[in-house]
Amino acid sequence: MTRILHRQIHAEFPTAVGGKGIEIVDAEGRRYIDASGGAAVSCLGHGHPEVIAALHAQLDRLAFAHTSFFTSEVAERLADRLVEDAPAGLSHVYFTSGGSESIETALKMARQYFVETGQPQRRHVIARRQSYHGNTLGALATGGNEWRRAPFRPLLIETHHIDPCFAYRLQEPGESDEDYAARAAQALEDKILELGPETVAAFVAETVVGATMGAVPPVADYFKRIRAICDRHGVLLILDEVMCGMGRTGTLHACTQEGIAPDLMAIAKGLGGGYQPIGAVLLARRIFDAFAHGSGFFQHGHTYTGHPMACAAGLAVQEVIRGERLMDNVAAMGARLARRLGERFGNHPQVGDIRGRGLFLGVELVADRATKAPFDPALKLHARVKREAMARGLMVYPMGGTVDGVQGDHVLLAPPFIVDGAAVEAIVERLGDAVDAAIAGLPAKAA
Ligand code: PLP
Repeated sequence: MTRILHRQIHAEFPTAVGGKGIEIVDAEGRRYIDASGGAAVSCLGHGHPEVIAALHAQLDRLAFAHTSFFTSEVAERLADRLVEDAPAGLSHVYFTSGGSESIETALKMARQYFVETGQPQRRHVIARRQSYHGNTLGALATGGNEWRRAPFRPLLIETHHIDPCFAYRLQEPGESDEDYAARAAQALEDKILELGPETVAAFVAETVVGATMGAVPPVADYFKRIRAICDRHGVLLILDEVMCGMGRTGTLHACTQEGIAPDLMAIAKGLGGGYQPIGAVLLARRIFDAFAHGSGFFQHGHTYTGHPMACAAGLAVQEVIRGERLMDNVAAMGARLARRLGERFGNHPQVGDIRGRGLFLGVELVADRATKAPFDPALKLHARVKREAMARGLMVYPMGGTVDGVQGDHVLLAPPFIVDGAAVEAIVERLGDAVDAAIAGLPAKAA
């Protein structure tokens, strides 16, 4: 009997009692390889001694001081560190307690920027279908994930959505990557022109799409084109790197690989690696200056912004990543995991696509490889894969609705950056068995 309103009321969750390295242990003593970092959170795995020590030390020094009275040394140090490593032009940091809060914050910053700079008519937010930006109302309205939005639609602010850059499903046969990137980016300019450029405030996108599509990177120069379109029309570019950022794709920020910098960037998850709830928004100098030379403040604030314990976790996690040169391991192990997934699933009749970057990989499941037809969503294949994986001591992050918010299934992998070759082998073996078992368990005519 539980008094928690769990995510699935009728499911029985094992009780997690410990964690070390890439594994979580439950109360029955069962061990699970955390091949998804929960939901791309636990980038250093579990029980990292340096992070634990930093948290103990911070707790002994100061657990909390409200930011309307004080700043704290640890928050200042983390902000310095984030700006030092930030994409060009991002000069300041606003701390939050997670990804949704970061997106809400970025949306409000964009709006206030235009109020401060005498363009109050700029109010429209454009984002992409098949995206996830969080579950609070503003973030939910911004996201393009139909099944999450549907029950709450009457409460959502007006937003506008264009197609994502999703080569496996939306690139035409024979269309080059360059042509597809140009066509996908043009959808943004068309939408801006339709709404009236002087009314558009921001475009929001995940640099590499996470939960809704399963680790889908952009194609060719898509983001360079997006950047140019935003600049042409005075629209702010908000990149959501809550899931794909902070090293997940092999560089600290995924946008580095696209050769662009956003005006606002939302981060969370890997920033604190799950050791504490923390997120942040990195903002461009011109946005900071507009606030500084205008009203002198950002009309926002949460009780736990800049929480010293959260900042201590973020700082310690980032120091370990840099000190242990873990980006090199993300690149090496990411390449190995991609290769091994290709060997295990490359000819699998129910695997349509294997994709991703660094240690952020997705496997899309299809009923028919030739037509890319998805499985009947009623079968909930993704949920079956999750169950079969857990039964084999493996945590992965499968999701349905890959194609259009209803149809399609994929499995997302986001193992800790400390993963080694033996763990990669175990992940691929267990996932292969789990996918085969889930498909074998489908009603006869479905598979
Ligand atoms: N943005 C992206 C890309 C995400 O993947 C998530 C969470 O999965 C969020 C925002 C929301 O973050 P949180 O769950 O910390 O509120």
